[in-house]
Amino acid sequence: MDLKLKALTKSIWVFHAATSPCNNCDIEILDLLTPRHDVERLGIVLVGSVRQADALLVTGVPNYKTKERLKKLYAQAPKPCLVAAIGGCACGRIIFQESYNSPCAVDEIIPVDVYIPGCPPKPEAMIAGIAKLIKKVRGEK
Ligand code: SF4
Repeated sequence: MDLKLKALTKSIWVFHAATSPCNNCDIEILDLLTPRHDVERLGIVLVGSVRQADALLVTGVPNYKTKERLKKLYAQAPKPCLVAAIGGCACGRIIFQESYNSPCAVDEIIPVDVYIPGCPPKPEAMIAGIAKLIKKVRGEK
């Protein structure tokens, strides 16, 4: 494993990109940071700028406004930038597929590396999803 990949997967810094969710997925992401789950012990740190992020945690169904912003956020992130779609909305738009203001799914805007379904997914599922993401990037089974 090269040094860049080792550094990337040892401590993933994540940026939360909310593309018009109902906020439940966002609250579950915040729960990851509480002492109960304490993901910082695993090297997962929530950062305030996408320019410092290794991965995007995307929640919600993109609408016409957030679609363009998500594109820009991904473009501004240093590469390689990993993407986790969190919640049923980000994974496949669930009940919003036919909505007038839902032009496309997250994976039609930016490449998604891991899907973490649920409405909302539990923090434990998010930790498992991020672990899966790290394994995928490292090429482990
Ligand atoms: S998946 Fe469920 S909880 Fe998450 S943003 Fe969509 S409706 Fe809300």
